[in-house]
Amino acid sequence: MKIYKFGGASVKNAEGVKNVAQIISRDAESSSILVVISAMGKSTNALEKIINAYFHGNAELTELIQEFKSFHEEIIKDLFQENTPIWMNEVYNLMLELECLLDNENLHEDFDFIYDQIVVFGELISTRIVSGYLLKQGIINQWIDSRNFISTDSRHRDARVQWEDTERIVKNRLLPLSQKKLIIAQGFIGKGEKGESTTLGREGSDYSAAIFGKLLNAESVTIWKDVPGVMNADPKKFQNTKLIDNLSFNDAIELAYYGASVIHPKTIQPLKASNIPLNVRSFLDTEALGTCVSDNFSSSEITSKIHKDKQILLEISTRDYTFIAEDSLSFILSTLLENKVRMNIMQNSAIQFNCVIDDRENQHQRLIKTLKEHFNVEVKTGLQLVTLYGKGNETDKKEISAMGEILLEQNIGKVTHHLMR
Ligand code: ASP
Ligand code: MG
Repeated sequence: MKIYKFGGASVKNAEGVKNVAQIISRDAESSSILVVISAMGKSTNALEKIINAYFHGNAELTELIQEFKSFHEEIIKDLFQENTPIWMNEVYNLMLELECLLDNENLHEDFDFIYDQIVVFGELISTRIVSGYLLKQGIINQWIDSRNFISTDSRHRDARVQWEDTERIVKNRLLPLSQKKLIIAQGFIGKGEKGESTTLGREGSDYSAAIFGKLLNAESVTIWKDVPGVMNADPKKFQNTKLIDNLSFNDAIELAYYGASVIHPKTIQPLKASNIPLNVRSFLDTEALGTCVSDNFSSSEITSKIHKDKQILLEISTRDYTFIAEDSLSFILSTLLENKVRMNIMQNSAIQFNCVIDDRENQHQRLIKTLKEHFNVEVKTGLQLVTLYGKGNETDKKEISAMGEILLEQNIGKVTHHLMR
């Protein structure tokens, strides 16, 4: 049993869907596969706009829905020409369901809850289209609604998997099915405590693939991407980048944590625990082997550079020049937790605590407001964070310093962070 995961870029148009279908049909002959597919192209971003417009009652909502529908209809038209088969009605039913939801004026007050109820349609529609196209090509497959298998808590937009429930359902219901049939499933989505839709965090489909991989005891999980594999740095930002052939789980966890966007941070843990190799391969060059993350080979001695933009530095100090002691620290940390804000760096002196966070809309405003009720808070926005993982040489260091004025530098073990303007 293998798990394949295809991201939005792989199914951004009809050509993409055809290519994905080709990879699946080639490999499904020799192995049973469960395929996880994301929302098509940038449609999760499109849904985020729809959600915002709905929540704030903006007039452009109708137009945005129309764009979202047309985008998918265009792909369906390209795939099926004039003969859209009857089973594609499932897609139109989903679109209708989405529209009905958005027609409802009974607004739930929690933005994150509403977000999850709506955003899942990106993956539901996308997987229906791919499954339908595979059927047209004579490739028998079973579409499943992943919400019926991935049980989560109700922490919306960042739900945590309820492992016991999920394991029971997957082993009892999905395992027998997956041994008989090719399965097409969504990533990113799950079902919360009250049966409502939940999501695992943006770009969470890799994590879903890992969950299925672990619970189905897969021989491997393969993430098909538009890059050759895990590079030691983003070629758009850095020079002389290299593909990493083999990576240990630990190195992969660290790289993902610091923002190497090729692998979603949560993906590695479930696989490491069960020693299931993770392949990162290119859907554009299907012969190339890409990167294998596992503990089966000794990891190459790597130096990686990771760039993150849209960073915010919070400089938090006490008003009365008392020390930032355990009580203040504990208050600051729990405020961050309550606001679901993760720190990329933290640092403290006697009267000041600094932390660097991602600039995510709607999140830091509330956090800063609460902190300002108790502390002096300086906020510096628009910063970039460059993390060097591994020893690095003079060239690496020069390249990093040329990227901007360094405001803060911090070294812990293999990791050196540079926060810059
Ligand atoms: N479609 C979701 C997103 O774009 C999940 C994913 O692609 O992993 O964030
Ligand atoms: Mg996506």
